[in-house]
This record gives sequence, structure tokens and C-alpha cells, in this order.
Amino acid sequence: MIIEYQRPKTIEAALKLLHRAEPVSLPMGGGTVLNQPTDEEYAVVDLQELGLDALQVRGNHLIIGATLKLQRMLEDEATPQALRVVIQRESTYNLRQMASVAGTLVSADGRSSFATAMLALDASMIWLPGEEPIRLGEFYPTRKGSRRGKLVARVEIPTHVKFSYQDVARTPADLPIVSAALAVWPSGRTRLALGGFGKAPILAMDGPETHGLESAAQSAYAQAGDEWASAEYRQEIAAILARRCLEALK
Ligand SMILES: Cc1cc2nc3c(=O)[nH]c(=O)nc-3n(C[C@H](O)[C@H](O)[C@H](O)COP(=O)(O)OP(=O)(O)OC[C@H]3O[C@@H](n4cnc5c(N)ncnc54)[C@H](O)[C@@H]3O)c2cc1C
Repeated sequence: MIIEYQRPKTIEAALKLLHRAEPVSLPMGGGTVLNQPTDEEYAVVDLQELGLDALQVRGNHLIIGATLKLQRMLEDEATPQALRVVIQRESTYNLRQMASVAGTLVSADGRSSFATAMLALDASMIWLPGEEPIRLGEFYPTRKGSRRGKLVARVEIPTHVKFSYQDVARTPADLPIVSAALAVWPSGRTRLALGGFGKAPILAMDGPETHGLESAAQSAYAQAGDEWASAEYRQEIAAILARRCLEALK
């Protein structure tokens, strides 16, 4: 439950509020998760006045402000077309207008198409204070650890990679049961991320070439069974989706 609301005008003031010992204070993007009923008590530090919502291309990178709303990212011409489709899959139009880029990545589970795509793209979250870059692949396994007093300022992804995303869901509006996101760098570096299962998307492959993509997808989902689908089903579909992603890039 939110017991206090703050809307600082500077990053310094926001960090100071987040550093307080009491009450526990959390950064707020769109607030769609933080506004949900819970027994925990916390203050929220609304980041909307900090000017962290820009989207710009810098060199070979897309720099995405932490508080940029998903819908605005979807509509911006700088966002690659394949990533726009992914954002559309993430949630409804209404929710996309509220949900922020950082809030979505920080709170994502394995069924998030956006987090799966950003993991394949080897996204870096830049945390303040200190401009500390943390790759999404490092963030998810350590997410439970304390980042108290910190906030994500922006997220960076490369623009010079080829990218493709595929998923399977029970209905077109449902979250995916299996998803695959593939990014291939000009050097041949290939990253395959899988989603549709578990607490966070996982990295199935990060190699120097595309060879072995399907078997990497199968092995990564060897234990991926739950009430929605068996591990055998997910293994088979993950391999098919990985192959389709590769074909789409050709
Ligand atoms: C009705 C409803 C339906 C939903 N449906 C879906 C769905 O279909 N699929 C889905 O994946 N999710 C769904 N969600 C969950 C939620 O909408 C998304 O995860 C959303 O993208 C979160 O973004 P936000 O900006 O609102 O996060 P917030 O609520 O603002 O924050 C979420 C978490 O991220 C942290 N955070 C936010 N910004 C920062 C920052 N800059 N730095 C560090 N930490 C930060 C917060 O402290 C908090 O822990 C749904 C929620 C609602 C209310």
C-alpha cells in the first residue's frame, strides 16, 4: 500500500528521497504495479518530472529514457519496426500509455515480450547514482538483491543489429506461452532469448554465429514445464520459433 507520494523536480532530490531509511521508498514509473493492492507499506517517488523520458539515437545505440511510456516508444520513428510489434504484444493500449520502459523491465516476468526482446538485444540499464550500467542478463538473476536508493535513468540498446521476435499464445490477446527473440550483430554475434515461462526471460544462446540455435533453444527449456504447457511442448516450440526468427532475418 502506498503510504506517501512524492514528486521531486530534480534527480538529486529523487535520490535523496529514495535513500531514506524510513519509510521504504520506491521509484515509480507508471505506477501500474505499485498501485496494486499489497500488504507491504511504502512511499513512492514519482519520476515523471525528472525529464527521463527522451528517446534518441546516439551513434550505434538507441537511448531510451526510463520513464518513457511504452506507447510513446511504440509510436516513435526511432524505434525499430520489429521492436514496435513486440511492444504492441506487451500489453493493451491503455496500459501502454501508463507503463514506463524501466517499470516494465524491472517488474517483468518471463511472459513479457518486451523484456525477452530487450534481453536478446543485450540491453543495458543505466542506474543512478553513479551511472552504473547493468545488463539485463545480469539484472534478472540478482533482481531480489537490494537496489535501495537507486533508480534507472535510461536503457540502451544497439541499433546496428538485426532483430526478430516470434511467439505462441493461446489466443492472440493472451500473453505468450513460448516466445523467442533473436538479435544478430554484423560480426555474427548471435543472442537468442526465450520467454513465455518463469520469473524472467532467459538467455538461451550468446555465440559467435547462428549455428546451433535450435538445439540451444531446446536445451534452455528442458525444465520449462508449468500449468500452461509441458517442458516437452515448450522445447519443441522454442526450437521452431528460433528457426522462424532466423528465417525472418534472412
Ligand atoms: C490491469 C493491469 C494489467 C496488467 N497486465 C499486464 C500484462 O498483460 N502483462 C504484463 O507483463 N504486465 C501486466 N501488468 C503489469 C504492469 O502493467 C507492467 O509490468 C508495467 O509495464 C509496469 O510499468 P510501470 O511503469 O507502471 O511500473 P511501476 O508500477 O511504476 O513500477 C514497477 C516496478 O518497477 C520499479 N521502477 C519503476 N521505474 C523505475 C526506475 N526508473 N528505476 C528503478 N526502478 C523502477 C518500481 O519501483 C516497481 O518496483 C498489468 C498491470 C495492471 C494494473
